Amino acid sequence: MRNARRILLRFGAMASSALTVAGIGLIAAPPAAAVDYYYELPYPSGESYLVTQGPEGTYSHTGPYNEYAWDFGLPANYEVSAAQGGTVLVSDWSPYWQNGIEVIIRHSNGQCTHYAHLNRAIYNTGDWVPQGRIIGWSGATGAANGAHLHFQVINCNTRVGIRATLQGWTPPTGSRPVSVNTRA
Ligand SMILES: [Zn+2]
Repeated sequence: MRNARRILLRFGAMASSALTVAGIGLIAAPPAAAVDYYYELPYPSGESYLVTQGPEGTYSHTGPYNEYAWDFGLPANYEVSAAQGGTVLVSDWSPYWQNGIEVIIRHSNGQCTHYAHLNRAIYNTGDWVPQGRIIGWSGATGAANGAHLHFQVINCNTRVGIRATLQGWTPPTGSRPVSVNTRA
């Protein structure tokens, strides 16, 4: 009798610990697959521009704040489009003079995209823009030798650069990637 009771108690304890483990397993099931890290090229569909400097470029894409950036050879006043939908965090002259007029968009994945040296930033802080929306015009404001678009994915809080892909790959210096970023 005493033995049977002990076995039952032990079984009960095992069952409840198994349930607890199962419960943790369910809670920890990663929703990561739903997080969208896909970025389009930051200019309109069908257009292609020379990558004058890619990520880890030797001219100025060094150090934590620019390491994973692209410079696209857009002439002045060409359309710059959102690489992914999101909320406009910055759309003005940068507090860092080197960037000139800049746009920063916060995405649902928690990352931000950064567009620098613009001649014009169109939207206001807090506005939501869909992927492909024209958010500014290219230029050479800030530290730029000529008109181009400096684009990168950054940590929204620290502005540290994040390694990213555009349309599923990393266009290198010298490439001319063709955008499929349909205007929205
Ligand atoms: Zn750059």
